[in-house]
Amino acid sequence: MKELYKKELYDKNSLGLRPSKMKDSDGHIILEIDPKHFDRLEKEKQETVKFYNAKPRSCGDCNLCCKFPPVPRLEKKAYEWCKNCDIGVGCKTYNDRPIDCKAFDCFWVMGIIPEEYKPNKVGFYITANSPNDLALGMLKVYTEPHRVSATIKKLKQYQVKEEKAPQGFHIKYGPGKKDSWYLHVNYGIRGEYGVISHQELEKQLAPVIKKLPKKTLQKLKETF
Ligand code: SF4
Ligand code: SF4
Repeated sequence: MKELYKKELYDKNSLGLRPSKMKDSDGHIILEIDPKHFDRLEKEKQETVKFYNAKPRSCGDCNLCCKFPPVPRLEKKAYEWCKNCDIGVGCKTYNDRPIDCKAFDCFWVMGIIPEEYKPNKVGFYITANSPNDLALGMLKVYTEPHRVSATIKKLKQYQVKEEKAPQGFHIKYGPGKKDSWYLHVNYGIRGEYGVISHQELEKQLAPVIKKLPKKTLQKLKETF
């Protein structure tokens, strides 16, 4: 995942994001795609596909990313189906969909991860949208509460099978920051993925976070 680290992790411009008018369930501002960076982001996406020698796919009957993330431009909350989604078919307003939808491709549709991880078959999708996660070598995984165990099992297999497996995955299963599990090599005994809860991670990081300047802390709290 080397090329994902080229960006200045906490620089919104570099990430092509800007604050939206919406807040998440914890009261943190949700970021949205800044239109002035759209073309560059598309170019970077193409470069990533080229870097992995990947073959992009089409979504087909999958709509998972029309449910899990918030879409501030539609005032769509996280973990609610978008009103424009024809589930199992596609977007009813495809040509006029918001720029955030146009800009998003999960790793499966980009062709970076194997066919067997088709999101609506495994119940989760993988992406990279958080500086906090990338700083810890993790990719982001979106799933639902009843699928957390199956997701952890499948991602443990991913580490065993895939040469380019990341150091870990941040598994998000609900709208709040606390709705998270972390799978990381730091928590395994022999380099395999171990699992910890958000509450445990917070406890472990508390002494470090206490020493951070206020401005840095604010950036860490922003929702990506
Ligand atoms: S999760 Fe991936 S495959 Fe599914 S609709 Fe979104 S981009 Fe397409
Ligand atoms: S506008 Fe279309 S692409 Fe965007 S979340 Fe809604 S259904 Fe999905």
